[in-house]
Amino acid sequence: MPLELNNVFVTPDSKIEFDDCFVYDDLSSEGENLTFSPIKVHGNVTNTGGLVELTYTADFKYSKPCDRCLTDTQKTVKKKFVHTLALSAENEESDDIVVVTGYTLDLFSLVRDDILLELPIKHLCSETCLGLCPQCGQNLNEGSCNCKKEAVDPRMAVLDELLQD
Ligand SMILES: [Zn+2]
Ligand SMILES: [Zn+2]
Repeated sequence: MPLELNNVFVTPDSKIEFDDCFVYDDLSSEGENLTFSPIKVHGNVTNTGGLVELTYTADFKYSKPCDRCLTDTQKTVKKKFVHTLALSAENEESDDIVVVTGYTLDLFSLVRDDILLELPIKHLCSETCLGLCPQCGQNLNEGSCNCKKEAVDPRMAVLDELLQD
């Protein structure tokens, strides 16, 4: 959904508001078994003394298996994003400047990029997730298994054999 920003750019102290709900077909390809709810987007573009700023809140849920224990884990995200908008990139050194070509902002693509940057690299059901036993696959959050905790030291194994003789 392109946002027409003609008026807000040329009129000091003007403001437009928007309220959208975006559904992305391609977001799930960013990670295995990653699924997203529709993304609720609510915000405004304001011209304050010639500085045009976009502020919005993205409200959504996503789910993905935990990286350690593989349990499907849903996260709720409500995050505010702020970008300064400019008509050209000239003289602007900040990475936070979004260039608006022809007074039209592609809000759909911008929200998509913001959300992908917001996703954590590690996705855990909890910071203290114990993961799966590497030997039997038991989910250690649900209880311990009967596997030996540490791999047997080969030197100890030799000693064990000697003692058994
Ligand atoms: Zn986990
Ligand atoms: Zn085990």
